[in-house]
Amino acid sequence: MRNGKRRSYTGKHPVDESLWKWVKGSHPILARLNPEELESLKELAVRFIRKKTFENPEGMTLGEEMKYSIAVQACLPVLYLGLEWYDNWHTVVVVPKSFRQQHQVRDAAGVVHEWSERDVGESWDKGPVVLSLEDVEDSGWCDGDNVVIHEAAHRLDLTDGEMNGRPELPRDLPAKRWFDVMSSAFADFSRRVEKGKRIRIDEYAAENDAEFFAVLTEYFFETPGVLLTSYPEVYELFSIFYRQDPAGTGNR
Ligand SMILES: [Zn+2]
Repeated sequence: MRNGKRRSYTGKHPVDESLWKWVKGSHPILARLNPEELESLKELAVRFIRKKTFENPEGMTLGEEMKYSIAVQACLPVLYLGLEWYDNWHTVVVVPKSFRQQHQVRDAAGVVHEWSERDVGESWDKGPVVLSLEDVEDSGWCDGDNVVIHEAAHRLDLTDGEMNGRPELPRDLPAKRWFDVMSSAFADFSRRVEKGKRIRIDEYAAENDAEFFAVLTEYFFETPGVLLTSYPEVYELFSIFYRQDPAGTGNR
């Protein structure tokens, strides 16, 4: 039934073969998917592009490659969940340059603190997802950094009505388990950041529970081995939630 439906959909809206070849070659994070999963992802991407509105307020050309790049990466987390998980956003705004801004503050003692923030200008519920071309091009290379998956994770987070690092959970994932695992990992991570310990995960994750979930989701899909070795319980939790096992542990 599902296969039949899928065939008819991509049959109606076929994806150019050379474009799809480019998508696969330019996104090493997709290399672990088997042919059936790639076919499902293609279908989701086609539906995503038809369903969402792409805006480019700064007037640059938004080619098919860029749309597909955004679509496949956004759809990867919901490969086994379904596109309806993204019903809480309709518009993707693409700007040319990275909007991660450098902030500077001088404290009372005269010390200048600097930090960068990647979530500038985002309005959450039902608002657009803003992505820069620069950041999208840097995503998908198996290095842990993926702005599309990061923003998509925030939208999943909102599915239970709150931006708190916890999406709507399936029946086999009790809220208490989610809370226990995520809060103890967050506490450990924040402690490590504070003490200046060497960590393999972007420090931005220490910002709050929502950023912790979004950043760790990037690692789950980009460099699953790093998440698995750093926080195995979080990895397990995510593999239950996303119904995927990117590190190939055999437990799903
Ligand atoms: Zn964020």
